[in-house]
Amino acid sequence: MVVVRFAPSPTGLLHVGNARTALLNWLFAKKMGGKFLLRIDDTDAARSTKAFEEAIYRDLDWLGLTHDGTDRQINRLAVYSTAFYKLQAAGRVYPCFETEAELERQRSLLAARRLPPVYNRASLEPANKAKWEAEGRKPHWRFKLSRSKVSWTDLVRGPVEIDTATMSDPVLVREDGAFLYTLPSVADDIDMAITHVVRGEDHVTNTAAQIEIFEALGGPVPKFAHFPLLVGASGEALSKRLGSLSLESLREDGVEPMAVASYLAKIGTSDSVEPRQSLGELAGEFDFAKIGRAPAHFVPEELTALNAKLLHLLPYSAVAARVPPLSGIPGEAFWDAIKANLTKLGDVAAMARLVTGPVTPVIEDAALAATAAALLPPEPWDEGTWGLWTKAVSAETGAKGRGLFHPLRLALTGLEHGPELKKLLPLIGRDRSVARLKGETA
Ligand code: GLU
Repeated sequence: MVVVRFAPSPTGLLHVGNARTALLNWLFAKKMGGKFLLRIDDTDAARSTKAFEEAIYRDLDWLGLTHDGTDRQINRLAVYSTAFYKLQAAGRVYPCFETEAELERQRSLLAARRLPPVYNRASLEPANKAKWEAEGRKPHWRFKLSRSKVSWTDLVRGPVEIDTATMSDPVLVREDGAFLYTLPSVADDIDMAITHVVRGEDHVTNTAAQIEIFEALGGPVPKFAHFPLLVGASGEALSKRLGSLSLESLREDGVEPMAVASYLAKIGTSDSVEPRQSLGELAGEFDFAKIGRAPAHFVPEELTALNAKLLHLLPYSAVAARVPPLSGIPGEAFWDAIKANLTKLGDVAAMARLVTGPVTPVIEDAALAATAAALLPPEPWDEGTWGLWTKAVSAETGAKGRGLFHPLRLALTGLEHGPELKKLLPLIGRDRSVARLKGETA
């Protein structure tokens, strides 16, 4: 049974990058008939907030990413302590006494010699240890890497090999006793029987250290899939714009959750970027092999275009709850008349005003408008009415093409562009049409 987890830190709002991680995990779980767990990585007490945690639930719910279980790391500190003692018993953790300033100095000395910033394990020297302990320094704790090659077959990147001799021993516990992300994540992945860790490629190096920790704890090592991160249109990092790319602001902007999901599931893959109407459909199409190695370009304008395309596909039943009925007009007919002109669902209100008014008409050709008003047939009207009526107006006035349609559209809607008039006219109805053709606001 496949078990995956989405493990956000509640230190900010979920943005499209986090949402993509959640979505890819969810789609894979559904495709495999597996489980999707939500784990709140809140060991960083100073930066984690309840409000951000609540926003995570709200945003995932909006996207439709239901979970099969959830927990917070802050509830699980005993599990991490047990794991820590196990590593300690195995001689894989050691106390370090350097201050942040001392470490920083070491790093700049290495940089000056063009060497990688790998921690020098000075705290393992008995003389140093004795001296620093005597000074009363409080230690932080590092995991002792094996300084050998760690390899795995990544489901996106293929074979990966990292020599942990090129890395610093990761800090597991801070001076104040707080766990940093690395150990809790592994301890939870073991405890929650996670089979696949699916996350962004910014975690590839962590993975080498984490595999060593999995092994040291005797846990099964999950499979890993690291997908390329999102970048902007010209390859720039998205980080500066993440505020406007939070799920919350997309929701407030009236973007459809399925447009967001379709876009995030398809960019950077070999599939075409087209809207899908359900997460189930996206799950059926999910395959790690389709995810490319190049960064995926997130372009807000493309998302907007995809949102419009999605709306154009949707049947009325899919939006009925969010498109309030207009008095006397069947919802289906209204939706069918306007959907091709929508970019966001919020545009419906302006479209409704075109039908029920008030519309301030623009009379471009008063004589033509008056003749057209006189020629309006009696109701009931249907989609054929527009064609018959405009033919009659054309025969009477000699107006054709744009000279005929432009003044009629301006009079009936007050706008240069809008929904197809053959669909709109029957909804506007005779009374309002007559009034608008006479130049009256109706
Ligand atoms: N809390 C970590 C993050 O948001 C989780 C990474 C992981 O999936 O292991 O980066």
